[in-house]
Amino acid sequence: MFGKNPIRPPVAGDGEVLEVKHIFPTLQGEGPFVGQPSVFVRLGGCNLACIFCDTEFEDYRSMELSELLAQVKALSLNDEGAWVRRLVVITGGEPLRQNIVPLCEALIGAGFKVQIETNGTLFRPLPESVSIICSPKNTGGGYFPIRGDLLPKVQAFKFIVSKHDALYQKVGDVGQAGFSIPVYIQPMDEYDPQRNAENLAYAKELAMRHGYILSLQTHKILGIE
Ligand code: SF4
Repeated sequence: MFGKNPIRPPVAGDGEVLEVKHIFPTLQGEGPFVGQPSVFVRLGGCNLACIFCDTEFEDYRSMELSELLAQVKALSLNDEGAWVRRLVVITGGEPLRQNIVPLCEALIGAGFKVQIETNGTLFRPLPESVSIICSPKNTGGGYFPIRGDLLPKVQAFKFIVSKHDALYQKVGDVGQAGFSIPVYIQPMDEYDPQRNAENLAYAKELAMRHGYILSLQTHKILGIE
C-alpha cells in the first residue's frame, strides 16, 4: 500500500485456485451499490502501485475455489441463517490480475450479484451480468489507458480527486463519454483531517459544476472494513 507494494503481473491459470487476501461481510461503502449488504472478496496483488493506495493486499494465501465459495456462502447468511448478503464484491489489489471467470460464474449460478472493482488496465471475459466499476489511475503522464475491450462493459467510473495532488485535480478523459458511462468522484483520503476536508469540499464543487456523482467512503465513516 501507499505505492510500496511490489508490482505483480497478471497470472495465468484456470481459476480453480486464487490468491486471496481476505473474505469478509460488510456494507458496500462506495459507488453505485453503496449501502448494500455484501461479502467482499479481496484478492492478493496489484499490477500498479499508487501512492495513495489505502489497501493492504499483499498478505495473501492460495485458496481453492470450492473453499472460497463455501466461505462466501457462509458469510452471506445472518445469525438466523437467512440469506441477507446477495452482493459479492471482488476487489483487490487488482482482481483481473487473476482468472476470476470461474468464480464469477459460480457466484452468479448460486444467485449472487457480482461487482468487481478494477483499475481498468487488464481484461478477462467475465459473464455479462457482472457489474464492472473502474477507478482509473494516473501514471504522472496521464491516466493509464482503459482496455478497449473492457471500456464498453464498464458500468461506472470512479475517479479519485484531490485538491492537493496535481495528478488528481480533475476527471480525465478515458473514453467514458463515448459510452455514456456515469462518473463518480471520490475525495482522496490523505489521512489528514484538514486535507481531507479540503478534498471533500473540492469534490463537492466538481460534482456541482460538472454533474459528477459524489461518492464518499461510507465504510470509513461507519468505522467498518
Ligand atoms: S490500482 Fe488500486 S489496489 Fe492497485 S495500487 Fe492502485 S489503488 Fe491500490
